[in-house]
Amino acid sequence: MTATGSAPQIPLFDLRLEPEDLDAVAQTLRSGWLTMGPRAAAFEEAFAAQLGCRHAVVVSSCTAALHLAYLAAGVGPGDEVIVPSYTFAATANAVIYCGATPVFADIVGPHDLGVDPDDVAARITPRTKAVVAVHFAGYPAPVDRLRALCDAHGLALVEDAAHSPSARLGERKLGTWGMAGCFSFFSNKVLPAGEGGLLATDSDEVAELARRWRSHGMTSGSWERHTRTAGGYDVIAPGLNYRLDEPRCALLLSRLERLEAEIARRRQLVAAYRERLSVVPGVIVPYPDEALELSSAYVMAILLEDPDRRPALRQALLAGHGIQTSIFYPAVHEFTAYRERFPGVSLPRTEWASRAEVTIPLYPHMTDEDQDRVCSAIERELAA
Ligand SMILES: *Cc1c(COP(=O)(O)O)cnc(C)c1O
Repeated sequence: MTATGSAPQIPLFDLRLEPEDLDAVAQTLRSGWLTMGPRAAAFEEAFAAQLGCRHAVVVSSCTAALHLAYLAAGVGPGDEVIVPSYTFAATANAVIYCGATPVFADIVGPHDLGVDPDDVAARITPRTKAVVAVHFAGYPAPVDRLRALCDAHGLALVEDAAHSPSARLGERKLGTWGMAGCFSFFSNKVLPAGEGGLLATDSDEVAELARRWRSHGMTSGSWERHTRTAGGYDVIAPGLNYRLDEPRCALLLSRLERLEAEIARRRQLVAAYRERLSVVPGVIVPYPDEALELSSAYVMAILLEDPDRRPALRQALLAGHGIQTSIFYPAVHEFTAYRERFPGVSLPRTEWASRAEVTIPLYPHMTDEDQDRVCSAIERELAA
């Protein structure tokens, strides 16, 4: 096992900007209007159009969008929100911002890392206000079943769509199945701009609340006052500052044009990974092949039948082959902040997956040659 000295390291994710992205940002900087102006409005319109929803509200992060969605669902002290634990911590953290309690639900299993609707149903109590679905890697969680369940119990369904721009279930895009869909434009996501997020909704009331709360609870912004569509403002809620600036909105607008092409290339890479790695002894490749065309192919996850082999495999890939890997995800209920607040949570399928999962490199401009190196290294190390 020797490091291939001259070959470049293969990162987990790599972000590439094109000249048109840089031009769009430079033009915005030259315009002198740097936040919440025409680019934000244009990006919101374009994103809503590609998603097929009535409203898109840009905010500073997906975490901010989740917080606003929970507030719009009326989540407050004493309430419960059912969330998966197999997710990034922000999904649950934002419940705590509202003074409410996250109630963790288990996943379906190693072949489907989405939340199990039967386990969600079993956890509904009179205090439950909302249910959150995460579309892991952009593969659809069962939002059709969760929507029916939420409708039957008068609960809000919130989609954490951080992984899943332009992914779908049937003909309907993910992020449009519930009361609100929350997207992330963080650096390593499918539509990256460094930072940023968006709340999508068909509800006029939810959109209105999100627009007010993202800017201090004000009834108008400085762009409206600048363009004389509003004279003054009132503050109608103790709002937040969750605004997104114009250069990032310009970058997002520019990148949005390449979104479908980049997802197509991601799917091609994931299809090749799936074909090659699903036959490697000891490797589980989650989700059926047919689900790939629905997905945004955000990350490539594999699970090891023997989770005890994970530390050595990850170390060998990094030290011996220059290949970076990650874990999507450590279970949220097992983090210190959650173990201390909510002890005794037991989610066997989530806990097993969080010990067995390895996330391997994937990005649209990954070469076939680099992908071949990743596959060969995994084959070799697991055969050792
Ligand atoms: C990245 C991510 C978030 C948080 O997104 P930010 O834009 O960084 O706030 C929330 N949920 C999931 C599932 C994520 O992957």
